Amino acid sequence: ASLYGIDGWGAPYFAANSSGNISVSPHGSNTLPHQDIDLMNVVKSVTDPKSSGGLALQFPLIVRFPDVLKHRVECLNSAFDFAVKSQEYGSHYQGVFPVKCNQDRFIVEDIVNFGSPFRFGLEAGSKPEILLAMNCLCKGNPDAFLICNGFKDAEYVSLALLGRKLAFNTMIVLEQEHELDFVIDLSKKMNVRPVIGLRAKLRTKQTNHYGSNSGEKGKFGLTSAQIVRVVAKLREFGMLDCLQLLHFHIGSQIPSTSLVSDGVSEAAQLYCELVRLGANMRVIDVGGGLGIDYDGSKSGEGHISVAYTLLEYAETVVASIRNVCDRRSVKHPVICSESGRATVSHHSVLIFEAASDVKPMAHQPKPDEIQFLLGGEEDLYAAVMRGDQEKSLLYVEQLKKRCVEGFKDGVLSIEQLASVDGLCEWVLKAINGSDPVQAYNINLSMFTSTPDYWVCGQLFPIVPIHKLDQKPEARGVFSDLTCDSDGRIDKFIGGESSLPLHEIDSYGGGGRYLLGLFLGGSYEESMGGLHNLFGGPSVVRVLQSDGPHGFAVTRAVPGQSTSDVLRAVQHEPELMFETLKHRAEEVMRTKGGGEEVEDDNEYKNVAACLDRSFHNMPYLATEEG
Ligand code: PLP
Repeated sequence: ASLYGIDGWGAPYFAANSSGNISVSPHGSNTLPHQDIDLMNVVKSVTDPKSSGGLALQFPLIVRFPDVLKHRVECLNSAFDFAVKSQEYGSHYQGVFPVKCNQDRFIVEDIVNFGSPFRFGLEAGSKPEILLAMNCLCKGNPDAFLICNGFKDAEYVSLALLGRKLAFNTMIVLEQEHELDFVIDLSKKMNVRPVIGLRAKLRTKQTNHYGSNSGEKGKFGLTSAQIVRVVAKLREFGMLDCLQLLHFHIGSQIPSTSLVSDGVSEAAQLYCELVRLGANMRVIDVGGGLGIDYDGSKSGEGHISVAYTLLEYAETVVASIRNVCDRRSVKHPVICSESGRATVSHHSVLIFEAASDVKPMAHQPKPDEIQFLLGGEEDLYAAVMRGDQEKSLLYVEQLKKRCVEGFKDGVLSIEQLASVDGLCEWVLKAINGSDPVQAYNINLSMFTSTPDYWVCGQLFPIVPIHKLDQKPEARGVFSDLTCDSDGRIDKFIGGESSLPLHEIDSYGGGGRYLLGLFLGGSYEESMGGLHNLFGGPSVVRVLQSDGPHGFAVTRAVPGQSTSDVLRAVQHEPELMFETLKHRAEEVMRTKGGGEEVEDDNEYKNVAACLDRSFHNMPYLATEEG
């Protein structure tokens, strides 16, 4: 387990147990009186046709732990509450969850429910997001904020105003100056008093990939000049009392508390300026950016690590606002944050199968053959005998090149080429002592399930969820089911270019090899695409309980079927099925002269096979060997 650094990035939720499997403590490490959950037991209970009561879900599989989500929401709120109390801050924390991080209905409903004691609300950035947020908040705390961010048209603003009419605590945050005209105009027409926020473009700039749109030239938010004009216009229309919130977001995964402090202090100054200009300010919304430590190093390097804890983040935010407001004698505002990544990342684990792509040796040369083949290659023979790795590699490459050229010229037969390949493999094995890095085929689409790896090199902990009590003898990289060039994972946390893995057979032989991708509960699902038409994974929700294995599966949904993904690209699977069945009928039910065949079993088999293909998931169907 230490090989994979599980203690660093997994605590307090994930560890290795004495059976060599990943165990889950969904309420944090102290889960007594419940026993920890063995992830392999969960997987078995929903995928194995014998144990799953016929459920037999296919991989890839997302296992969600709502208890982890509850723990995250509680930790976030208690960190801020502690900071507020210990610094004698004059107001309170009241956060929101940005639904863009994961819009799954059950996740959002859970967060609203778990957050209700803390008046925890939601942030939306588009019209569908507002609708889902309003619907979920019907069951939430009536004081919870509904923060409406993102570029807006008249329809978006109408929806946000409607939210106020429906007694949601809706804040319309202006991202562009012209949005104010919609707000002024529509609030009059709809006879509703809006509560308005401003998103400021801060001068403080995030340094990593996620901050590329921050700073003065950022995409979202208002410049100082625009803020001054918005204030003047609101005053002109007698609506300055509506301006109550200041928001900023300088990007996800802020690496250090010093950057948090810089950004928050600048925003707090702006907040105080808005107070001075006569706005009715009440809330400062520090956006997202609370990071998580994907590699457990606490180094704050790249965008995979942050050099602070949740509590240190909360203490920095509270102290920065307090210092500025005290200096300017401004009443302490309510503090809101839009922490998405830190709230949902931990609670879901993506589980997928891997199979080693080790091909049997092209040709295992016999000792006399080796001597014979190497006989004409004196340099190579001598280098191998001396154990000179560098020279052996060089001569092997030269020999291969010559032989491929010979094959292209028609001088070498395919059998001779295979012998040379076998010889070269043998030499490499002899001088390396072991196989070099192997490719493991994974039954997964990176484009669907880990788009951030491809887009911005985001690294996630990937670990076998079993066999952790056995030493991994190989090192591997992953090839997914999609394209040759990009569908590959060959960078891992810790800066490694391969991962220690167990030696396994191909799919279906010698049992499954199952890997878990951890900390991927935010962004990945909402951004994944349908490259090669591999759709969303199967999903199960697992609660800790008193049952025999300490858990209960409360919901299990198969992943998108082939019909689902075809429909997503405008095909009509029902019609396609009929067309292909019709064709089968024409071809198989009639003999040469149009006469009907008596035995139509073959036709029926073809129709059943087509039916299954439309209903099953597009991933490889594998069975436990
Ligand atoms: N708020 C806004 C406006 C965002 O754009 C984002 C995401 O980038 C977030 C909040 C969530 O940020 P994080 O996941 O870093 O908490």
